[in-house]
Amino acid sequence: MDSLTNQQLQAGIAELDHAIYLHDQWYKNLLRVLVSRVSPEQSDLMPDAHLKCAFGKWYEDHSESFFIESQQLKSLFEAHKKVHSGARHLFQRISNGLVIPVDDWDNFESGRERMRREIWAARHEFAETLKNRDSLTEAQTRTGLLADLRKQHSLVLRGKQTYALAMLDFDHFKRINDSYGHAAGDTVLASTVQCVKSHLRPYDRIYRYGGEEFIICMPSTTLEQAGEMMERLRLAISEQHFEFGDIQVTASFGVTVLRESQTVKESINCADKAMYEAKSAGRDRVVLDV
Ligand code: GH3
Ligand code: MG
Ligand code: MG
Repeated sequence: MDSLTNQQLQAGIAELDHAIYLHDQWYKNLLRVLVSRVSPEQSDLMPDAHLKCAFGKWYEDHSESFFIESQQLKSLFEAHKKVHSGARHLFQRISNGLVIPVDDWDNFESGRERMRREIWAARHEFAETLKNRDSLTEAQTRTGLLADLRKQHSLVLRGKQTYALAMLDFDHFKRINDSYGHAAGDTVLASTVQCVKSHLRPYDRIYRYGGEEFIICMPSTTLEQAGEMMERLRLAISEQHFEFGDIQVTASFGVTVLRESQTVKESINCADKAMYEAKSAGRDRVVLDV
């Protein structure tokens, strides 16, 4: 979910809403066939009926791309497949002139109920991810930061991992706003977060901590490794080009690790202190909290 853009998340929510509507329509038709004994759709009798309905087609189109990541969507797909195979069984009995045993019907209905729950759960997963995203930069908002870090800190306390975090603050950001306007400043923030994300590993995260301050969280990373990563990031940030003007955007970094002897808040303060040292030493640099 983390690698999905806000737009992809929004599209996912809209598609799931649409899936609910489409399956309600499909279910209405199923009842019509069973009650009035009209012929079912040919596609509903096929072994791959779950791929022939509109929701199945949509899933197929997207499963190879970004949606494959959602565990919730995978289990929804399985539930959806079961609903269609259940329906096929009901249709076959009807067309063979047989009654539908109540257990078969109950089974079908509970499968359908499960599918609905899966749709809502997937929708919830998308919506929650979106809720914790900053709309301008698509970094995580700081809402879940402390809770996330405390969880990681407990692993550090149990000796299970090393965990690094870095405070990133843009250099002379006010000047960018003053010279090129607030919209240009917004562009710099958004592009730089994309740049940062493209350099991070899949399990690293970037949070917007304040206006132009960000925290980068790096699980299973030592102080030295984090320092090297931030050094590469610092360089990548300074090499960005912007259409609105010939400027060099730079940032200062303070890097620390979660320590047994410190609370999470103290660690954030340490990263902040190291970042201010980077500012005092001339900006556009990485300082480690050793
Ligand atoms: P320093 O190198 O010491 O960090 O200088 P600075 O100018 O970056 O720091 P300062 O704290 O003086 O100014 C930060 C500026 O960032 C001021 C604020 O208007 C701007 N800013 C904060 N959030 C946003 C935003 O979302 N968009 C834009 N365009 N500007 C923002
Ligand atoms: Mg700044
Ligand atoms: Mg600042």
